[in-house]
Amino acid sequence: MKQKYRETIYGKDYRKWKFSGCNNCAKCCNGSHFLIGDIFYSEIAKLFQLFPIIFHISNDILMLKIVFTLEQHIPCIYFNADNKKCLIYQKIRPMACREFPFYLIPDNNSATFFKNDAVEYDCFCPSVKSCEQGIPIFDSSLSLSEQFMQTFIGNEGLKEPIQDQNIIHDFLYTLLRFKLLTRKPFLIDIPEKPFLPPYEIDIITIDEIKLKSLSDKDLSELHSLGFMYSINQHLSSLQLFQKQYMHLYNIKTSLNKAN
Ligand code: SF4
Ligand code: SF4
Repeated sequence: MKQKYRETIYGKDYRKWKFSGCNNCAKCCNGSHFLIGDIFYSEIAKLFQLFPIIFHISNDILMLKIVFTLEQHIPCIYFNADNKKCLIYQKIRPMACREFPFYLIPDNNSATFFKNDAVEYDCFCPSVKSCEQGIPIFDSSLSLSEQFMQTFIGNEGLKEPIQDQNIIHDFLYTLLRFKLLTRKPFLIDIPEKPFLPPYEIDIITIDEIKLKSLSDKDLSELHSLGFMYSINQHLSSLQLFQKQYMHLYNIKTSLNKAN
């Protein structure tokens, strides 16, 4: 049977679903599985030098995503396996990490741009349970509970995704209108496995040949909307990731040798 990565839970089952609190098992960071998360528009400029940013289709919906962990036994490059801590926790940890193991479900027809009577969770997290103990995920109005939103999404975080969802929608719609997206393999040399061929993910990215052949009018539209920055940051994120990976790998290796 195919393994499920994400499960949707609904407000109508509000009595059932609780989050018993993060137990720091580190399954979300340590490479227990391939993990991609949502990225918000305002995060692209902050994160493109740190993580690959890709386009992704799920249930026929095009989304912008960030790649955290690649495959089994290859942790996030910012995960410190010795103390099970995140190297960028205080500074620039992405919103998707702060929200984990939950994913708000986009809904462009609602005032908040997210569904409030359902949420997805990552099945690998052992702390989301249908149990008696923990923070209730929904309340009796069948909506995401205030306590849940405050604890896991946060006041500050909530405003950002609401505004961002609108811009991301325009950004993706514009890329589709200009037919700028294409499927391509993204290859990464895994320093821990030097004798194996590069790890390959089939991703959706910008078709650079088409981008170069756009008319001046279309290019100027992309510039005026500010989307050209985001396109370049997406492309740079793919190029920079390998360097960043090697850089951190070398630091970790030399620290291990020094100890
Ligand atoms: S998988 Fe869940 S319980 Fe484990 S560290 Fe991540 S959020 Fe916490
Ligand atoms: S950035 Fe930090 S919190 Fe996010 S997956 Fe990597 S190690 Fe975990």
